[in-house]
Amino acid sequence: MAEELDIPLAIHVLSFQPYYLFAQNRAKLNSPLLLEKMFTRHPKLRVYVMHAGWPMLDEMISLLLLYPQVYVDVAGIDWMLPRKEFHRYLRTLVEAGFGKRIMFGSDTSMWPQTIAIGIEAIESADFLTETQKRDILYNNAARFLRLRGKEQLQSRARLADTRTALKACAPSEFQALARGSI
Ligand SMILES: [Zn+2]
Repeated sequence: MAEELDIPLAIHVLSFQPYYLFAQNRAKLNSPLLLEKMFTRHPKLRVYVMHAGWPMLDEMISLLLLYPQVYVDVAGIDWMLPRKEFHRYLRTLVEAGFGKRIMFGSDTSMWPQTIAIGIEAIESADFLTETQKRDILYNNAARFLRLRGKEQLQSRARLADTRTALKACAPSEFQALARGSI
């Protein structure tokens, strides 16, 4: 139905809770390849894979190669993962040629302050050019969501507001909080 109505779809792939807390969790469920059937059945569906398929990097690259309609977001992994690991993952996706299909995300309503950590994780990536950072923080999502004209200007203003507001918080406190929650 989403394909018919041209509604963008986000699909969650990632379980990090230990199996003894969530008995149904299995490592193989982290595989973004489980989505492949859907991509072939619904080739016009606008879909993005949440958390960029982390930690299944090779699988994610294979999917991005074969299905140009698929995007990813870096929600959660941009503030939860150790910075080095996040940068390793992001860098490989960008160097594999998918810098135009990676979208910023936060996936956090409980701790909105972690959004600042996520933005900082992108801005501190010295392997990204300014254009690549803008693509990830804004342009790719605007294209995927087909924001236009006024809508685009409004969300650009919101992004600027968010950046200003978030400068006031202390990322390290929330990073510790986030790590402890894994
Ligand atoms: Zn999630």
